Amino acid sequence: MASSLEICGINKRFGKGDKSVEVLQKIDIHVEPGEFLILVGPSGCGKSTLLGIIAGLAEPTEGEIRIAGKNVVGMAPRDRDIAMVFQSYALYPTLSVADNIGFALEMRKMPKAERKKRIDEVAAMLQIGHLLDRRPSQLSGGQRQRVAMGRALARQPQLFLFDEPLSNLDAKLRVEMRAEIKRLHQASGITSVYVTHDQVEAMTLGSRIAVMKGGVVQQLGTPDDIYNRPANTYVATFIGSPT
Ligand code: ADP
Ligand code: MG
Repeated sequence: MASSLEICGINKRFGKGDKSVEVLQKIDIHVEPGEFLILVGPSGCGKSTLLGIIAGLAEPTEGEIRIAGKNVVGMAPRDRDIAMVFQSYALYPTLSVADNIGFALEMRKMPKAERKKRIDEVAAMLQIGHLLDRRPSQLSGGQRQRVAMGRALARQPQLFLFDEPLSNLDAKLRVEMRAEIKRLHQASGITSVYVTHDQVEAMTLGSRIAVMKGGVVQQLGTPDDIYNRPANTYVATFIGSPT
């Protein structure tokens, strides 16, 4: 069963007193179990800060993060059962692809036979079954990104967080990987939040999209809502809606 994610009244302030800056203001987003939600907005609008708060890398100044109904604010990142994929994917250079994917499972002391089965399943999902014996240095950028996703997927997290995972790839590969991520989400059904500053990526990937600017959600809706019924001129201009 997929988990819900509720982002409730999140405020985030950096610094103290006169010099403090409010980076997130009253963010309220309820992500349905199994949904693929996009956070889109220009650089500096607070997307990574919000993901970090969900993952437990930073605490909010106010508000709650509820995963499957349970408030996780204050809980250590490793206890939140979340997998994160960034643009820079740090694979273990000395380990094979299979061992990279299975690393977290080994840490959890999953028996070898079961681990192998899980690695094979994930590799099939990502179409990297033929690469399992290679080292990261013997892979292309797109293949490395797949392995990074495989590693995150292997441990069947409750939540998947993506922070601009494709922004380092060239345009052609970016389009391919978009389709890959979509397929992966359909196959795994894991509740996901995907951050991007790319409007096209947002419109093609998301079931719903939150458009952010200056730490505030300007509109939350389906791609159709956002495009055809933008809430304000900012959203219309950012998404490029017909005027
Ligand atoms: P985005 O991911 O949308 O580009 P970020 O969440 O990285 O935006 O940053 C939002 C704002 O918060 C930016 O103005 C950034 O400079 C500021 N910021 C991020 N992290 C910190 C920090 N640790 N201390 C102070 N300001 C920060
Ligand atoms: Mg960012």
